[in-house]
Amino acid sequence: MDSHTGSETMIVQRIANGTVIDHIPSGKALAVLKLLGDPHVKGFRVALVMNVSSKKMGKKDIVKVEGVELSDEQVQRLALVAPQATLNFVRSYQVVAKRNVSPPSVVVGLLKCVNPTCITVKQREPVYSTFLLSSQAPLTYVCRYCGRELGEYEISSQVQ
Ligand SMILES: [Zn+2]
Repeated sequence: MDSHTGSETMIVQRIANGTVIDHIPSGKALAVLKLLGDPHVKGFRVALVMNVSSKKMGKKDIVKVEGVELSDEQVQRLALVAPQATLNFVRSYQVVAKRNVSPPSVVVGLLKCVNPTCITVKQREPVYSTFLLSSQAPLTYVCRYCGRELGEYEISSQVQ
């Protein structure tokens, strides 16, 4: 028996309509949930499946969100927290579309440079931070203004 499919269906029912975010790195499910917003405030149902076996990743997390379609901004943030994530769009219990997220080549205004002397950090300068993708795995962005690199850990801690 396929242990992955078996454990998943034991824990969580299929959703009727919504989005299944699959291939989230193990341990990042809560970070992904944070970027969707508080389910109690926004009124959607969510199921977290953590630490399940994955052929591709070893261990992975899955987030199932009922009745929610992710906005473009949420997809962009998701790509920064979980660059290998896949989105499965579900209607009437069927997966009607799949989409891979991919880290954007340019990120404007979302990430902060960690170089204290960078022009984007100094308060009086009205400059939006701009980061350019330099590596997908491990995920690395470079500040356009000073060249300082942001690694995976720095990126995901900022996006939350
Ligand atoms: Zn910088």
